[in-house]
Amino acid sequence: MRLSRYFLPILKETPAEAQIISHRLMLRAGLIKQASAGIYSWLPTGFKVLRKIEDIIHAEQIRAGHHPMLMPTIQSADLWRESGRYDAYGAEMLRIRDRHDRDMIYTPTAEELITDIFRSHVTSYRDLPLTVYQIQWKFRDEMRPRFGVMRGREFYMKDGYSFDLTREDALHAYNRHLVSYLRTYERMGLQAIPMRADSGPIGGDDTHEFLVLADTGESEVFYDSAITDLTLGDRDINYSSTGQCRRVMEQFTSLYARTDETHDEALFNAIPEERRRTARGIEVGQIFYFGTQYSDALSAKVQTSDGSQAAVHMGSHGIGVSRLVGAIIEANHDDKGIIWPEGVTPFHVGIVNLKQGNGAADATCEALYRQLTGHGLDPLYDDTNEQAGAKFATMDLIGLPWRITVGPRGLKNGVVELTSRRSGVCVELTSADAVARVAEIYAPQGMEK
Ligand code: ATP
Ligand code: MG
Repeated sequence: MRLSRYFLPILKETPAEAQIISHRLMLRAGLIKQASAGIYSWLPTGFKVLRKIEDIIHAEQIRAGHHPMLMPTIQSADLWRESGRYDAYGAEMLRIRDRHDRDMIYTPTAEELITDIFRSHVTSYRDLPLTVYQIQWKFRDEMRPRFGVMRGREFYMKDGYSFDLTREDALHAYNRHLVSYLRTYERMGLQAIPMRADSGPIGGDDTHEFLVLADTGESEVFYDSAITDLTLGDRDINYSSTGQCRRVMEQFTSLYARTDETHDEALFNAIPEERRRTARGIEVGQIFYFGTQYSDALSAKVQTSDGSQAAVHMGSHGIGVSRLVGAIIEANHDDKGIIWPEGVTPFHVGIVNLKQGNGAADATCEALYRQLTGHGLDPLYDDTNEQAGAKFATMDLIGLPWRITVGPRGLKNGVVELTSRRSGVCVELTSADAVARVAEIYAPQGMEK
């Protein structure tokens, strides 16, 4: 993309209404614009990041054997009355009346609708296990929408639903989700720690929230610092192996990590003092096994091998897709702006032409642009007539991980500069080598797709 033809509405002033850094940076870098309280438009650069996050989630869900689908945002109230949640959900649910006076809702989650689809089509244990998911807009009329996309009213969520014949199978679905979520967040350059969460009125302890550590997080968290050393890395996971999924899940959940809702002071104090940590965290996902609650309420049964009828064991598993954009920025920024992890960056590399209109500089930038694009990369070329300082400030603000700087002085010696946004380290190399280096940096990601 050439910046001169792009739509990147950068704000010079820091918006007064934004209380936390990710919200300020998202507004300043032209990623979003508020439409009304807790409701945002996604401008081109923000939308690119949102889609990258979505792509990673799809790839990892499909890898885990889950099937993507799509359900409507507007639903009839009938099913919600049947489950008892039409009244129970309270003021957070946006209720709408259509022209025929029928009660409709804008969906805050989709257990009812998916259970209805399931009961209409699945009748035999032979069709299980089954996990489907969608990435779809949700609406919750939050009392206090704030922090930009972190606590919106309209927000983008991945919601997955697992159906299994037995509790044991359902726990495998749970563990499989936990492991696939670890890989999903790691690919976004995030460490999200699974923490035992409050299961509410359902009982049991089969729910974990995934939290990204950040000072601005809404949850207070307590954990054993050894947990931050754990990574899935490029471990080969066989998602159909119950044993392997269970072992990974045990490895990541055996160390103490809880939110204030489930915090146990005595257990926490049993951790060696130097490893005890209290911090704040942003919830970016939650997995939940809830047994037969919805299948009982909505009568979703299958025939078992002995011919009897059994209510299916269900789980629901969410990822806060739009919230993740804010969470990634909270975890990756400095005083100049955003520092995108390579997995989600809106453009792979920026090209800064220090002297637009200079024949050699223009020609080198054009060639770089062509060659990078030829490698399947998506560069952002600042071909405007701004001063060098302003160009650098823009690149730093929007946070592309790599920048190639081209100027007449370097070109006299046959070199351009390649700079890492995160480390600030800058190397001089030929433009051909710069292309090769950037292509190499992104190569493993390309292969995963
Ligand atoms: P919270 O406790 O933050 O209100 P929740 O537990 O009600 O969230 P879930 O139903 O578990 O949310 O939804 C799955 C994910 O969707 C959450 O982990 C979170 O990342 C995201 N999410 C929930 N509410 C919002 C919101 N108002 N704005 C943006 N993302 C949200
Ligand atoms: Mg939650």
